[in-house]
Amino acid sequence: MKRKKRLIWQIFPSFLLITLLSLLAVSWYASSSMRHFFLDQTAVDLDVRAVLLEQQVVAHLLPLDPAAVDALCKEMGRLSATRYTVMMPSGKVVGDSRETPHLMDNHANRPEIARALAGETGQSIRYSNTLLQSMMYVARPIKKDNHILAVIRASIPTTFIDRELRSIQLKIALGGLLIAMVAAGISLWISRRITLPVVAMQENAGHFADGDFSRRLAAPDTEEMAGLADALNRMSAQLDRRIKTIVSQRNELETVLASMLEGVIAVDNEERIINMNAAAAGFFNCQPEESQGRDLQEVIRNSALQQFVRKSITSKIPTEDDISLYHNGEKTLHMQSSPLLDANKAQIGTLVVFNDVTHFRRLENLRRDFVANVSHEIKTPLTAIKGFVETLHQGGVDKPEEAERFLGIIKKHVDRLSSIVEDLLSLSRIEQEDEGKTIELEDGYVKDVFQSALQICRPKAQEKNIAISPDCDEETSAKFDATLLEQAVVNLLDNAIKYSEPESTIFLKAYRKDSEIKIRIEDQGMGIAKKHLPRLFERFYRVDKARSRTMGGTGLGLAIVKHIAQAHGGSVTVESALGKGSTFTIHLPVG
Ligand code: ADP
Repeated sequence: MKRKKRLIWQIFPSFLLITLLSLLAVSWYASSSMRHFFLDQTAVDLDVRAVLLEQQVVAHLLPLDPAAVDALCKEMGRLSATRYTVMMPSGKVVGDSRETPHLMDNHANRPEIARALAGETGQSIRYSNTLLQSMMYVARPIKKDNHILAVIRASIPTTFIDRELRSIQLKIALGGLLIAMVAAGISLWISRRITLPVVAMQENAGHFADGDFSRRLAAPDTEEMAGLADALNRMSAQLDRRIKTIVSQRNELETVLASMLEGVIAVDNEERIINMNAAAAGFFNCQPEESQGRDLQEVIRNSALQQFVRKSITSKIPTEDDISLYHNGEKTLHMQSSPLLDANKAQIGTLVVFNDVTHFRRLENLRRDFVANVSHEIKTPLTAIKGFVETLHQGGVDKPEEAERFLGIIKKHVDRLSSIVEDLLSLSRIEQEDEGKTIELEDGYVKDVFQSALQICRPKAQEKNIAISPDCDEETSAKFDATLLEQAVVNLLDNAIKYSEPESTIFLKAYRKDSEIKIRIEDQGMGIAKKHLPRLFERFYRVDKARSRTMGGTGLGLAIVKHIAQAHGGSVTVESALGKGSTFTIHLPVG
């Protein structure tokens, strides 16, 4: 860019030029007026000298005495440093201060002489061939009774006038130079006075441009500059207000976005990230500050998200879908997109909102699995019952032993169906009571629960010759629903008996540790492989399906225990290793 001239260097030279031109014009005018004045004065002076000589010359004209005239000219010329020449009307020189008259040529055609012969005073400045220098001549006629007797001419060299004039011109020039210097100083001072407020304003406007609106421009003396400063001040205040409003609005928006649990990503039509909130960054494991303006693909490497965003941009209508993420465990996000529109309703990108639906989807899956499991569990005994009933119907009744056996099998399946239904009903009742908080917890002794549970389980244990060793202080008490807690202990004891070898021992223990009552049921049975433990308390989960069925298990026993523990604000845990027995613990909070 071409470097701009400073304002002062535009104003100052113009001022200086105008001043110098004016000075030059005035000096020229003054010196030429002086020259005229001088010449005029000298002409008058020469005329006066001629008049003075005229009185003396007239006496020697009638009759003409050339020698006397010439002597007079020479004498007066010497005294007054003037050259006098006297000529007859014919132009013949009769007397001259410097030369010998008869050697001089006829002067009638000299301009000043010609005018004098015409009866007026003639004047001329020219180079004298006689004296070899520039001369000023004034000639006047000497008249008698209206007759021109002779012409008298006085002259002096113009070198004298020129010398005088030069000295005056020098003085004028020196004065002019002095004035020019003073004028230059004043011009500079005025230029500075004009430009200083502009420079100050420029500096302050620079602060505005840098975003510092705390300063205000001082009002300069001139009306226009003061108006400009005022306009700039108002503009700065206005800008300050607007920027503050924009910043606070942006901060509010950022705060809202940052505190949203839903992830939000805005991308433009070129799939570059316009904005991303903290929740979205958390989902995709990236930094929101570093992602702005970068390609979505570069920041989040996820092809499903890419395709979704691309589809949203091209389809220009709200879209939704699910996406699965696998860092920090599996996560399911529900994505909803809507087009981003500018003020003219033109699409500039798309806005995607992410909801973490992992829990929701898991529940959905659980429900789906549960329905499938229930159907499956019920279908198996129903199919068996149907088969045997049909066999009986088709004549099986005729063989009483067979019929007896079939009916036994049918009974077994019906029992199984009814235990499934019973367990399901228990489960849903506990769930409902837990959700509705209608379980009434009362202070009670755990030993009482043990006693009634043992009463139920002992016959089964005795069948397998299994000893149950209870160990519980008389005082161990907690807040519980006796029926539910008994059911939980029965379920665990029942399992322990089912999955233990005959002749073994089951330890039933209750004790207080910290702020918990722990109820432990420890067996010496077959144990459970580690991989099954995380899912053990799910509905219908069994380690060995066939074995569980033959044992009359529904796969719901542990799920019921878990729900009962939860309904008491507690939990159930298991420690087990294959072949080394299992220990189930119910944790009940105290206080
Ligand atoms: P089930 O009615 O089949 O016993 P549960 O929910 O009570 O169902 O138990 C789930 C599964 O956990 C059982 O099928 C069994 O494989 C395993 N299990 C439960 N208790 C024990 C235990 N004490 N010893 C070994 N395995 C057990």
